Amino acid sequence: MSYQKVLPSAIDLPLNQKELGEIISKAKDWALMHGVCMRSKTNFSADALQFAPFVLTPSLYPRKEFEKAVNLQTVLNELMHKVAHDTDFLRETLASTIQVDEFTANLFKIYETVLNEGFTQILNLGLFRSDYFNNVNNKILQVEFNTIASSFAGISSQFQSFHSYILNELGHVDKTKNLPENNALSGLCSAMVEAWNIIGNQKAAILFVIEDVTYNICDQRFHEFEIREKYPHVKVIRRTLTEIFNTGVLGSNKELIVDGIVVSVVYFRSGYEPNQYPSKNEWDARLMIERSNAIKCPSIHYHLAGTKKVQQALAKKGVLNRFLSNETDIQKVQEIFTGLYSLDKKEGGDEVVDMVLKNPESFVMKPQREGGGNNIYGVDIPEKLTAMSDDERSAYIVMDRIFPPISKSYMIRPGGQMQPEIVEMVSELGIFGAIIGTKDKILYNRQVGHMLRTKVSNANEGGVAAGLGALDSPYLF
Ligand code: ADP
Ligand code: MG
Ligand code: MG
Repeated sequence: MSYQKVLPSAIDLPLNQKELGEIISKAKDWALMHGVCMRSKTNFSADALQFAPFVLTPSLYPRKEFEKAVNLQTVLNELMHKVAHDTDFLRETLASTIQVDEFTANLFKIYETVLNEGFTQILNLGLFRSDYFNNVNNKILQVEFNTIASSFAGISSQFQSFHSYILNELGHVDKTKNLPENNALSGLCSAMVEAWNIIGNQKAAILFVIEDVTYNICDQRFHEFEIREKYPHVKVIRRTLTEIFNTGVLGSNKELIVDGIVVSVVYFRSGYEPNQYPSKNEWDARLMIERSNAIKCPSIHYHLAGTKKVQQALAKKGVLNRFLSNETDIQKVQEIFTGLYSLDKKEGGDEVVDMVLKNPESFVMKPQREGGGNNIYGVDIPEKLTAMSDDERSAYIVMDRIFPPISKSYMIRPGGQMQPEIVEMVSELGIFGAIIGTKDKILYNRQVGHMLRTKVSNANEGGVAAGLGALDSPYLF
């Protein structure tokens, strides 16, 4: 692997054993007491929480690149909004993919259905997260753009305080100024309430669509509690797709009524992977929601715009001109794209296969899935690729593998050692954005905050819940 640059640490490491033991113990308790927590997958109990894995000291992040990502977010919000409203583009781009990928095909079927019927609600709410790795020169490159269930705004909003506390305890109060403010949680919740206000039905609730079992419960509850605390008149309910199927109906004006409660805004924290639709019922529930006059976060077309296939199509030369008019913006967005390639035979897929087979370590192969753990990396690609028919390949895209600079610190996990080793890590920055608009008019467009997720450098993926990733803060330099 070609990792190169090693970044310095925010403070001198290692810590001596006594100091390390004490600060870890304080850090764990701080995390537990401030909701930096999840439910355990291995030892599940609805009555207990574990702290979420975290990096003890914040990771260095170039200020210029951080600001670049922050400043680009409203442009990306607008771009994805326009992409989502370009029916021809979505159709053409996803045509081969939906021939072979049943999940995306099912989403597309819902899209076609509501498109043919006419959208009951023309407003969309987007709570997005654009994710970045830095390349060897420490410049941001987009990993992906999330349009559904973008998570960790709640927990990440605690991290400036968390790392300020840690730095202060370790005698570095002067360094806390390098931790940028993070208002991701309040930003996303304000946008949800703004959508609720636009509908203006005082009796209506915001519906959180949830998984059967929620491990990332604190992150979700932070959103709910933020809304209930700041806007006590706005009701929040949580239901699974199965429950929505069982108790939901459309009223005479296509209002969504769940358990007798009218819903004006639907916020999906589930519905992005196949196992969240165990039967036709859950698909029917999704269709019912799309047919309703509630504002959906995301609407079905926002969901489709967030597919990896769309990301790959947008990176093709000249395509951004279809959606953005400002040349400077176009250039700035183009710069964050790394090589993305279609495997579709009609789009030069055979040459891409040759290129990848010659040098698999330089690539990542991605299906149209969310939530981590779905990609194929390096040496595993050839076997997978050669076992597939030409058509089946169209379910995937290929992307240049990014090798970010390495940082070093302690990664703390529940059940981990009391005297952990320093590990080599890489960080993925996420910038949150919120948008509300119709096809022709954007009413609300903001950048609202960030998250930093760090994984051990030799892991392919760094899902926090999966155990290889940890929450972190950017320490700007
Ligand atoms: P998902 O929607 O499942 O989160 P991602 O595209 O974000 O899919 O991929 C999951 C993870 O895989 C990322 O968080 C990152 O750790 C790793 N990854 C994705 N793309 C690349 C890439 N081009 N280079 C290196 N690692 C990548
Ligand atoms: Mg994703
Ligand atoms: Mg991701």
